[in-house]
Amino acid sequence: MTSSNQQPIPAARPIIGEEEIEAAVRVLRSGRVVQGPEVAAFEEGFSELVDGRHCVAVNSGTSALHLLLLALGIGPGDEVIVPSFTFAATANVVRLVGADPVFADIDADTYCLSPAAVEAAITPRTAAIMPVHLYGHPAAMDQLMAIAAKHKLAVVEDACQAHAAALNGTPVGAFGAGGTFSFYPTKNMHSLEGGMVSTGDAEIARTLRLLRNQGMEQRYANEIVGVNMRLTDVAAAIGRVQLAKLGGWTDQRIANAAYLTKHITAPNVTTPVVAEGAHHIYHQYTIRFSGDRDAAMAKLTEAGVGNAVYYPTPVHQLKPFWEPDQKAGRNWDLPETARAAAEVISLPVHPSLSTEDLERIVVAVNDLGENL
Ligand SMILES: *Cc1c(COP(=O)(O)O)cnc(C)c1O
Repeated sequence: MTSSNQQPIPAARPIIGEEEIEAAVRVLRSGRVVQGPEVAAFEEGFSELVDGRHCVAVNSGTSALHLLLLALGIGPGDEVIVPSFTFAATANVVRLVGADPVFADIDADTYCLSPAAVEAAITPRTAAIMPVHLYGHPAAMDQLMAIAAKHKLAVVEDACQAHAAALNGTPVGAFGAGGTFSFYPTKNMHSLEGGMVSTGDAEIARTLRLLRNQGMEQRYANEIVGVNMRLTDVAAAIGRVQLAKLGGWTDQRIANAAYLTKHITAPNVTTPVVAEGAHHIYHQYTIRFSGDRDAAMAKLTEAGVGNAVYYPTPVHQLKPFWEPDQKAGRNWDLPETARAAAEVISLPVHPSLSTEDLERIVVAVNDLGENL
């Protein structure tokens, strides 16, 4: 039970500190506000997180994914293998470029794409595999890259939840043809809104720069058809402040997760699994609860412990995907996706948690074991 003097612990807590505010004001006063020197510096700084790959900043993580698919030439007639246990953006962008998402199941332990399921989903139309590093845990990139190489497929990493996660020392966003990051306020770092594409290919990087700016590098010398997905310098300046703090925040998330995993002992709760060689950066700390999840979540909320389900409905069951698939007679068999969607609960793990907050979370979760 919460005593009346205890504030609820939010599930996520976006940070906008004095430094972020000062950076924004400094840029506003400078008059250079759109895709200027701050954006260039943000791209250069971020590239250190992705083994020095080219980085192209855009106005959201969704834009990053969208432009990367366009830059890779993925479009009508192509299939892209995606997880269904993800945020809808992953599959939305596939449809937006005119390609067909093919939904593959996940591994029960990591909630990321199952390499075996991916291999089984490959057809002559498959153009790309799009793993999501869900909750900040890297997907099985060694196996997925091998499958892609064997079948000559592009790999697009949705790293929107996984800033500075890694597998066997290689950072996410440095495996595939390209990777994408989101700087939405609830992510591990933010720029209010914003996104980044990383790629090892200078030509793709140049195409991305053209696409985000109406197809122009030089004004009115349009080379291709493009859009406006530019990032502002105000956003980039905030992103740079956050980038400098990301390492410390990530260490704190990992320490918070370690505390929770050590002390959560309820028999009907499974704590997160970290695959061998994986550097999990805990965008979410997600447990499985076997029992009445709605009742469990209500009890956590009552105890002042923020909680949420990412994601209650698998993407393939969302209307914009379900309806056309039904019409086309496409059925997906995704048992682990269904089980995860029914069982997961994400708990607070953000770097602003105090020791008392962590203790309260543990007590509330262990109490579920006694009472549900
Ligand atoms: C947040 C997120 C996106 C989209 O990022 P936005 O910046 O919100 O557009 C894409 N994929 C995943 C997995 C995400 O979590």
